[in-house]
Amino acid sequence: MSDHSTSKIAVIGAGMAGVTSARLLQSRGFRPTVFEKSRGIGGRLATRRAGDAITFDHGAQYITARSAPFQSAMQLALKTGAAAYWRPANAVTEDWIVGTPAMNALIKPSADGLNIRLATTVTAVVRAAGRWHVQTNGNDPDDTFDIVVSTIPSPQAGRLFAAEHAIATALNRVVMAPCWALMVAFVTPLTGVDDVIESASDDLACISRNSAKPGRSTAQDCWVVHASPAWSTRHLELDREQAAALMLEMLPRALGRPLPQIAQCHAHRWRYARTAAPLGAPFIANDEHTLFVGGDWCMGARVEAAFESGAAIAAAVAGAVDGTHGAAAV
Ligand SMILES: Cc1cc2nc3c(=O)[nH]c(=O)nc-3n(C[C@H](O)[C@H](O)[C@H](O)COP(=O)(O)OP(=O)(O)OC[C@H]3O[C@@H](n4cnc5c(N)ncnc54)[C@H](O)[C@@H]3O)c2cc1C
Repeated sequence: MSDHSTSKIAVIGAGMAGVTSARLLQSRGFRPTVFEKSRGIGGRLATRRAGDAITFDHGAQYITARSAPFQSAMQLALKTGAAAYWRPANAVTEDWIVGTPAMNALIKPSADGLNIRLATTVTAVVRAAGRWHVQTNGNDPDDTFDIVVSTIPSPQAGRLFAAEHAIATALNRVVMAPCWALMVAFVTPLTGVDDVIESASDDLACISRNSAKPGRSTAQDCWVVHASPAWSTRHLELDREQAAALMLEMLPRALGRPLPQIAQCHAHRWRYARTAAPLGAPFIANDEHTLFVGGDWCMGARVEAAFESGAAIAAAVAGAVDGTHGAAAV
């Protein structure tokens, strides 16, 4: 087996897929460098702080674990207190898991000890003299790597790797849909409704009481409302205030009751929220097995799909470095 510490690997994105692949690579002796454009990790495992202990999970609402490897990862998170079961009264046919006290807590233990460059956007990845030059928005000098792993949403990967024709063609097959998220807190609790209402109307995909999740403050009655992919697509270019106003108008109709007085209200646009048409394989690789492109959009629209892609990439990178098996899934 090769000395893995000598292969320089860049991982782009510190969501579930990127952190999973970097953690597994590190456990195999690699020393990956993770580039993350946000100031924190988690990606769409996202929580907005909005005042003293008030939070809204405005991305993924909960996680389900169906495969054995993801179930073990979640069991570990549950045991260490990084996650807890969420069992709303009107739910559910399978266990729902949430990060505690915020969604990205789920991946924080895996991210511990990784070299993560936060607030660093990768702006270009250029192949020259047999190496990858990773350019960023920071003051860092261009860095060179043997292998690049990308775990960003497929449309963004399409732009970053437009020059890699086979990869760009495969990426074109994937469709991701947007989602407008409304975060609203009421002065007095909204009563007489379930804590989670899925498919509330054609325009509202999910309404959930954030403050009912374990580990969240109940100081305000906080709700997260996700618009449907169709509504979000039609209203994609609204500004945040307009989107919030329209979604607030729809909410009483969907709930069948008037809203209490609003304490605070925000909207967030996820331009690439959920996978509408997945790739159908856990990642894409170039012929040389030096570029691996993945994320949730490979296999589905769930956090588990991101985990699956990240884990498959880590195994393929190790196989490519050791020359033990072919790496390309697509
Ligand atoms: C509104 C909404 C609701 C959802 N609900 C659920 C749910 O209930 N259950 C469920 O299982 N899933 C849900 N999902 C989907 C789930 O959140 C995703 O499947 C999963 O989190 C994706 O993980 P990922 O690592 O593939 O991508 P991401 O989490 O998107 O991570 C990619 C990371 O790359 C970073 N990045 C992007 N471009 C660059 C760049 N150029 N340079 C550096 N960094 C970059 C981003 O900042 C991000 O941190 C939901 C998603 C949304 C948006």
